[in-house]
Amino acid sequence: MHELGITQNIVAIAAEYANGVPVKRVTLEVGKLTAILPDAIRFCFDVCCQGTILEGAELEILEKPGLARCRQCGSEVALELPFGVCHCGCQDLQIIQGEELSIKELETEDVCV
Ligand SMILES: [Zn+2]
Repeated sequence: MHELGITQNIVAIAAEYANGVPVKRVTLEVGKLTAILPDAIRFCFDVCCQGTILEGAELEILEKPGLARCRQCGSEVALELPFGVCHCGCQDLQIIQGEELSIKELETEDVCV
C-alpha cells in the first residue's frame, strides 16, 4: 500500500508549511490518473497525523479528472486511465491534467499563514 508513504510525505510537507501552527484542515488535490486512491489516503491520514501538529486536522480531497490532448489532431480527450485513444484513432496523447498531487490549501488556527 504505497498510499501510506505518500500520506506520510503529505503530512510532513503540511507540517513544514504550518511552521508550528496547529492545522485545522488540509485540502489535497489528487489527479485521477495518479493511481492514488483518495479513500486510502483518508484511511492513512489520521494515523500519519498522530503526534504531529496536524493531529485532529480534517482532510479534504479534490479529485481532478484526467484530460489529454491528442498529438495528431489536437482534440482534448477525457481520460479515466493514464492512457486512451482519441476519437481520430490516435493513441499518442499528451496528458495535460490529472497527474497532480498537491496540497492546495492549509487552514491553520491563525487566520494568516
Ligand atoms: Zn486525435
